Amino acid sequence: MNLFDVYPLFDIEPIKAEGAFIWDEKGTKYLDFYGGHAVISIGHSHPHYVKKLTQQLNNIAFYSNAVKMPLQNLLAEQLGKLCGYNDYNLFLCNSGTEANENALKLASFHNGRKKVIAFTDSFHGRTSLSLGATDDAKLSANINKDHEVVFLPMNDVAAFKNAISESVCAVIIEGIQGVGGINVPSDDFLVVIESECKKLGVVLILDEIQSGYGRSGKFFAHQYSGIKPHIITTAKGMGNGFPVAGVLIHPDIKANHGMLGTTFGGNYLACAASLSVLEVIENENLIVNALKIGNFIMDELKKMDGIKNARGMGLMIGIETEGDAALIRKKLLFDEKIFTGFSSGKNTIRLLPPLNIGMREAQLFLSAINKILQQQLIPN
Ligand code: PLP
Repeated sequence: MNLFDVYPLFDIEPIKAEGAFIWDEKGTKYLDFYGGHAVISIGHSHPHYVKKLTQQLNNIAFYSNAVKMPLQNLLAEQLGKLCGYNDYNLFLCNSGTEANENALKLASFHNGRKKVIAFTDSFHGRTSLSLGATDDAKLSANINKDHEVVFLPMNDVAAFKNAISESVCAVIIEGIQGVGGINVPSDDFLVVIESECKKLGVVLILDEIQSGYGRSGKFFAHQYSGIKPHIITTAKGMGNGFPVAGVLIHPDIKANHGMLGTTFGGNYLACAASLSVLEVIENENLIVNALKIGNFIMDELKKMDGIKNARGMGLMIGIETEGDAALIRKKLLFDEKIFTGFSSGKNTIRLLPPLNIGMREAQLFLSAINKILQQQLIPN
């Protein structure tokens, strides 16, 4: 059997990783400023993470959600404490799209409505409802096309006020748009969304799958604005590579048995991984670090020639270049041995490094990109 060929691959085969570095099968060392798409939060193969997962694997790896699993309660408690949503309830699942799928379904269970407001350049996943709320028509097959979703321009208060009504089920918005090119919703815009949703019984869903878990310099990016959504979705950084996702649910949204469910969600290994991530984030002060190092990188980028715009918060940074960003990214990878991400529509390189990088890694990246930008500025 061959693999179903859906991914364009780099000709690189990582076989070992530690902290912010990866080694391929030839022994070449790479700096990881992509984190496997924002997944590596506490650094590759963090010793505490490895220890906790190994211990759990030696005890029990899996049983279904038909038995008591105190690890799940502990995870909910610790997550609530660290993110500040103590009074919310947690539903555990396996991936980002599944978290959004459940969030949208819950919203409809709650108010009985169907229509969704999402935003231009959004990405919420590749399954039914989350794909419906994703602003990329080419990802949808015919069978995906019957959802009632309206896409509005981000940060356009007038357009939002015009579209929101008592017939809307949910508004779904990313804490910071990731795939769409690192676009930050303004605090004022989020405040308007929150108040209109409250007034009209619309469920506000904050997709923090990429921007959450400390990446922005707060636990969740929306916490800069002071709003409190009804539902928050998390994944990526939550398990540092172990597949796990969460739906954080306002206490007014009531559960009943059978309403949501999953075979693998919240299994022992996922909980052990997630708990160890929270412990490292707290013990190593990684949210503060993300803000400090992120601010430093952002300030330095803003001084460089060849950069049109640098956007983002903390260690979620988009660099819109004057020259071809795809080429610059390729040079970063193959000449400078640095992994980064990319948003083609916005000619933007995306930085999503582990949250525990230090000044040394920041300087390595900055001098590498500066070198490439300088080369591009010198006429042939
Ligand atoms: N939401 C956001 C903001 C994302 O960035 C992604 C993935 O990139 C998803 C949802 C989907 O997550 P997953 O690929 O785990 O289904």
